[in-house]
Amino acid sequence: MSEQSIPRLELLGCLISARLLDNIQNRVQEIRRLTDPKDWRYCPTKDNPADIALRGESVSKLAADDKWWYGPTFLLNPKDSWPVQPSHGEESKNTLQELKTSKQTVIAAVVDTDVQPEHSIENLLKASKYSKLETLLRVTAYVQRFVDNVKRSLKGEKILKGLLTAEELEVAEKSWIKHVQASLTKLPKYNKMKRSLSLFMDDEQLICCHGRIEKSNLPNETKFPMLLPSDHDFTNLVVLHCHTEVRHNGVRETVTQVRWKYWIVRGRQVVKKIIARCLTCKRLEGKSYGVPPAPPLPEYRLDNDVAFSRVGVDYAGHYS
Ligand SMILES: [Zn+2]
Repeated sequence: MSEQSIPRLELLGCLISARLLDNIQNRVQEIRRLTDPKDWRYCPTKDNPADIALRGESVSKLAADDKWWYGPTFLLNPKDSWPVQPSHGEESKNTLQELKTSKQTVIAAVVDTDVQPEHSIENLLKASKYSKLETLLRVTAYVQRFVDNVKRSLKGEKILKGLLTAEELEVAEKSWIKHVQASLTKLPKYNKMKRSLSLFMDDEQLICCHGRIEKSNLPNETKFPMLLPSDHDFTNLVVLHCHTEVRHNGVRETVTQVRWKYWIVRGRQVVKKIIARCLTCKRLEGKSYGVPPAPPLPEYRLDNDVAFSRVGVDYAGHYS
């Protein structure tokens, strides 16, 4: 076979594409000639057998699926009751609904974390995978911006671009706090905790504590700190962040820093646990290089000899 030059292959590609287009056009024209557009009916995706194969299904489920073998059930009903083509707006709404239920777009629920437990923020982002609170909050904020932009583009509004704003980061942080607080409310001892810490919901549905400093001039977030559980990865990141802010100072300083904004259940123990794991602290507080253990004394220093039986000078070694 003779070698084909690049220009000749490109020419061949163009020819095949042109023939394919021509073929498609001929088929479309034939379909139009043979049928009336009114004969073509709308089939919603949930009733469409072709969509089952597109989404992927196991053989056992496919074998037992009546829709796959017999088609949509509405075909057995009178034509008047068949589904009608939704308008463009409704179609978009349905598409969004479809996106929301699919696995990839659990992110849609990030905006509103308390919609359904299975759509919670933690299904998408694992706090345990992050070593810094800032990184987790930035990633969360970008995901929330993406979801927001999808909604905006469906409504035809201008989408958000550029650097993250302080407000977006605050929303991301509050989403996480709401999520971790949800796990606290399910604890059997929550009611006892509610009484002892005088817990209440603030305007943004965050659980906060009443302290004894509410008449001070301190900021509101210090007077009414937000409650965090002791056993969540997000709490660990918060503690580590505060510990870094106080320049790897001790337990007391870190607890004080945490309490400017949060109240952690059994906070002191959590702080101790995090500091015990902190590599920077280990490096800074590690013991300096110690003198090696002294070797046994030489024999001549231990014998009961008479005076001057062994003599030596310090620059030439001893005489034996
Ligand atoms: Zn440290």
